[in-house]
Amino acid sequence: MSQGYIQEIFSSFQGEGAAVEGSCYGLRQIFIRFSGCPLALGAHGTKGCIWCDSPKSWSTTPAKCFIETKAGTQSFTETTNPLTSEDVLNIVKELSTKDLHSVSLTGGEPLYQEMFVKDIITSLKDTGFNTYLETAYTDNLSFLENIAEKIDYACVDIKDRTANAALEWKKLVDREVEMSRILKKAGSKVFAKTVITKTSKKEDFDFIAKKCGLIELPIVIQFVTPTSNSKIEQPTWDQVDNFSQIAGKYLSPDKIGISIQMHKAIEIL
Ligand code: SF4
Repeated sequence: MSQGYIQEIFSSFQGEGAAVEGSCYGLRQIFIRFSGCPLALGAHGTKGCIWCDSPKSWSTTPAKCFIETKAGTQSFTETTNPLTSEDVLNIVKELSTKDLHSVSLTGGEPLYQEMFVKDIITSLKDTGFNTYLETAYTDNLSFLENIAEKIDYACVDIKDRTANAALEWKKLVDREVEMSRILKKAGSKVFAKTVITKTSKKEDFDFIAKKCGLIELPIVIQFVTPTSNSKIEQPTWDQVDNFSQIAGKYLSPDKIGISIQMHKAIEIL
């Protein structure tokens, strides 16, 4: 039984995605937010995404983990990190409700704490929960291959160049598409999410969409949510409309969608 660092665990509804295979948009989930993000730690030469909405999870060893007291209360109690995988399973059981669809492994980057996330995924599956992985990066593809068959749903965050998540942006996209291929091959229902901004370029989105098309990976174009500490602006409708039509060159219409962060729009967790 391994130990690791968790930022928070709570019950809410999945606010990202669209009507494409792999998306759990609008469904009840328990969210396990893992600590640590390799992109923020400089895995690709930058300090993570400039629009990151969870910079607290960049800390690799936070002293405290925040846990919703009961599903739907939106109030939290705190416990001391590290937690064991058994602790996490017990918290998930406590927060479980009859309408629960799946357990979201999010972050930070859930694949960053390898043994810990593996033990949690295994215990969730052994207990009968559906698993949903939100990931952007791992440098260990064999580890991903090792756990992929236990992932029921996955959202792979394929970074637009404007996220500033990598110095060699195309290499990062290639890695994220390869991660998607591995998950698909193992039987996971997978989609790509690309967050776009007002300065996103159509030639960059074309590069992403073409790569997705090669493995028939559904893509969701997501409006960035501006944060208070960045000057990032939302894309225009013309951009989103144009990008969706670009995706249509490479993917069938049922594999293309648009998204906002619904949970932020209606101010839930
Ligand atoms: S990969 Fe995710 S957690 Fe890491 S900086 Fe980007 S948005 Fe934030």
